[in-house]
Amino acid sequence: MPTLESPLSAEAVREGALDAIWQSSLPTDHEIRRGRRRLHAKATVIAMVLAAAYWTLVIADSALWLRLVAAVALVAGLLATATGVMHDGNHGSFSRFRWLNRVAGSTGDLLGASSWLWRFKHNHLHHGNTNVEGMDSDIEQQPFARLAPGQQWRPWHRWQRFYLWPLYGFFGMKNMFFGDVRNLRNRQIGPVALPNEPSRGVSTRLLLGKAAHISWALALPLLFNPWQHVLLFYFVCSWVVGFSLAVLFQLAHCVDLAGFTDADAPRRGSHFTSHQMLTTVDIASPVPALGHAFRWLAGGLDHQLEHHLAPRLPHTVYPAVARRFHARCAEAGFTAKMHTGLWAALRSHYRWISEMGRPPVRTLVLDRRGLS
Ligand SMILES: [Zn+2]
Repeated sequence: MPTLESPLSAEAVREGALDAIWQSSLPTDHEIRRGRRRLHAKATVIAMVLAAAYWTLVIADSALWLRLVAAVALVAGLLATATGVMHDGNHGSFSRFRWLNRVAGSTGDLLGASSWLWRFKHNHLHHGNTNVEGMDSDIEQQPFARLAPGQQWRPWHRWQRFYLWPLYGFFGMKNMFFGDVRNLRNRQIGPVALPNEPSRGVSTRLLLGKAAHISWALALPLLFNPWQHVLLFYFVCSWVVGFSLAVLFQLAHCVDLAGFTDADAPRRGSHFTSHQMLTTVDIASPVPALGHAFRWLAGGLDHQLEHHLAPRLPHTVYPAVARRFHARCAEAGFTAKMHTGLWAALRSHYRWISEMGRPPVRTLVLDRRGLS
């Protein structure tokens, strides 16, 4: 009996094959348990680094050079907390216990960002609608930046390839002092309304989190140090942490290797795995030692694609999952996108914000849809 397959069914077969490859790449229970143990050990090391750096920088009567070393260690510890404890906790991947995930997630409040708002903004808006214009809050930075083809172009975007880099460092401080309170008061993040009315407890926890951040980051240091030094160190450390986090997330999605979906398209595209492979790019580590250091600081987000496909896995299992997934995709003719290194990722982001900074009539709109 002759069988004629329509293009749609061929695509469905291809999507099914891709899903099967992903399922076969997932970690075993043993790998997940071992990954969690490594994650908890890492969190312990981070806590010790933070305690030693804070004591040396803020409380002890240390020499200036030692304080500078401590400031670098403090920034590294804060960054690793955000990417490797807060991020995992708020995804529910730090532990199998919900309360422990909430404890890990609440380190975000200590860092100055409401963990309650983060879960909606990051888990639902960003993960659920990666690079979907009008839904993914990570690509909504108007009027400062035009990050996607469908967004309004303004004359100053011509220079965004220069001014966005220093601006990234202020995004964290903006949320700490204005953004979170404004979002809670307006009951929305960007154009999207919050899923439910924030209770009084949510507002209280948000304000307590801000107070806790100000206590350890500004008030306590002021008891031991001149106010000019405290403000200078607070500003510089906050800027570096904010810059590193913003750039880290941009390199996975806001690059010329990634695709974007307009607001009229179905959420996540028609097929979840394909949509994440379209919109999310990994970063290779050509120099293993540097790759390990980068991965430690980045909370495994050099493997953003695997994170987006399975955000509830501890980030310590992503390298093994990514090795299997990339190899099997290559065998079957699928492309799992990957920057060849950190420098290549930075250049790709630069090219994308340069392209988006040009007036739309000259913007090259590439069709990156479909599987390649
Ligand atoms: Zn995430």
